[in-house]
Amino acid sequence: MHVYDESGNKLDAECSIGEEDRVYGLILESWGPSLRNKDYNIALDFIIERLIDSGVENIIVYLASSTSRKYMPSIDDRKIHPDQYFSLMGNNPRDIRKEMCSYQAHFSRTGRKDAPSGNRSKRIMIHVLGANDTEFWEPIIHGGLSDLFKPTENEHLLNKKVSRLIKKNLSEPKGYEVPETVKRVQKFYARDPLVKAWILQQSKGVCECCGEGAPFYLNDGTPYLEVHHVIPLSSSGPDTVSNCVAICPNCHRALHYSKNAKVLMERLYLNIDRLQK
Ligand SMILES: [Zn+2]
Ligand SMILES: [Zn+2]
Repeated sequence: MHVYDESGNKLDAECSIGEEDRVYGLILESWGPSLRNKDYNIALDFIIERLIDSGVENIIVYLASSTSRKYMPSIDDRKIHPDQYFSLMGNNPRDIRKEMCSYQAHFSRTGRKDAPSGNRSKRIMIHVLGANDTEFWEPIIHGGLSDLFKPTENEHLLNKKVSRLIKKNLSEPKGYEVPETVKRVQKFYARDPLVKAWILQQSKGVCECCGEGAPFYLNDGTPYLEVHHVIPLSSSGPDTVSNCVAICPNCHRALHYSKNAKVLMERLYLNIDRLQK
């Protein structure tokens, strides 16, 4: 078995899935002549990345070379990290892998040692709690099948996926010529046209958030601003003028998505007398 990259190319990194020393997991090989398994580090980075993408936060890593198994027959003695689990929390897969390797340096071929130095035998076993079948490990090895890449109709979930994907080095995706559709029951709120009209009218075409003029005019000659409910209707906010502001599209998006959304909202409450919390 081999690990594959995100384009489906086979990496020079051998692995196997199964039970060894009564622990189930993925065994990644990096022993033998120097030319063998030369993509070991790349493969390990992919594995770490895909585990994270599948929502795995903790793994257990054991040394699994034949020498280490001979001198440390109990697999517990071959757990490379001092804590119960090795955490996959970190900046990026590469840094996490380096941290993992730094634990391995605390082993000689025959046992644990005090001063770290290079560890040549990198055959390791990765165990994920509760993952005791190939069904779990196959996509980790082959990639591309992670839930992360699955289209979704849920906008919140979509944005969560996007915020993780955006940190990766992406190549141009194919997309879907005919995206799947999903039927969904949705609740809509009937809104008072008088409230919306009054809010727009009193704004005189000036955004109540940033103080800039409306970005353009509508066909009917009125300046384009959006009416935002400070406490969302979906959070039981009222459809009244004491909960509405007229704002430009930029400010509207910022109030919904910016990391400063809370600050912006507090500023609205401070500056606009009619608003009530
Ligand atoms: Zn604005
Ligand atoms: Zn809004």
